[in-house]
Amino acid sequence: MKITSAKFIKGIVDDNPSLEDGKPQIAFIGRSNAGKSSLMNSITGFKSLARTSKTPGRTQEINLFLINDTHYFLDLPGYGFAKAQAHTVDKLNKLIYWYLFSSKQNPKVVVLIDAEIGPTKSDFGFLDAIEKTGKEVIIVANKVDKIKKSHYGNQIKKLAAQFPNHKLFPYSSKTKVGKEDLIAELLS
Ligand code: GDP
Repeated sequence: MKITSAKFIKGIVDDNPSLEDGKPQIAFIGRSNAGKSSLMNSITGFKSLARTSKTPGRTQEINLFLINDTHYFLDLPGYGFAKAQAHTVDKLNKLIYWYLFSSKQNPKVVVLIDAEIGPTKSDFGFLDAIEKTGKEVIIVANKVDKIKKSHYGNQIKKLAAQFPNHKLFPYSSKTKVGKEDLIAELLS
């Protein structure tokens, strides 16, 4: 399975009827700096589809992309918000909360973690909340290129054990290892 087209549709700021056209939605979320923008750019093959955290701009909305004319990818603001102002944080939290917890949307949720660091308290906190909604969740462990070869097997085993209820996809936005499996899962 391949991604042949990816178009930025719009930045969502509140409930939006054009989301309800029945195309499957895949929402990407993770702690700031886990590499969400890098992941979205590397799987689509479009280098500047999602902006990285070093180029602030679109990161304060939910960005909607149409993939292959069949699926939507949604780039959700990262939880963590290290650099954002308090009022922006509040607006972002409300937006994420609306989309994931109180709207009628039923996306597959991709939770991105840093494979080298492993899941943090805020990752588990978010996971706990999203699991309660019954939405399908998959975990992408990004940055596997940073794990020492000798430690790789153990680290992946440890990560899998930390997420017993979800599929885990080891991935690297840098080397693109794991790309085919991940795309197949996302577009299935
Ligand atoms: P975001 O805040 O989650 O959107 O994170 P970014 O995509 O901006 O990435 C944060 C930092 O991690 C940047 O310096 C990226 O170059 C780096 N990064 C992202 N993915 C990878 C990866 O797979 N491997 C390595 N080594 N670095 C990565």
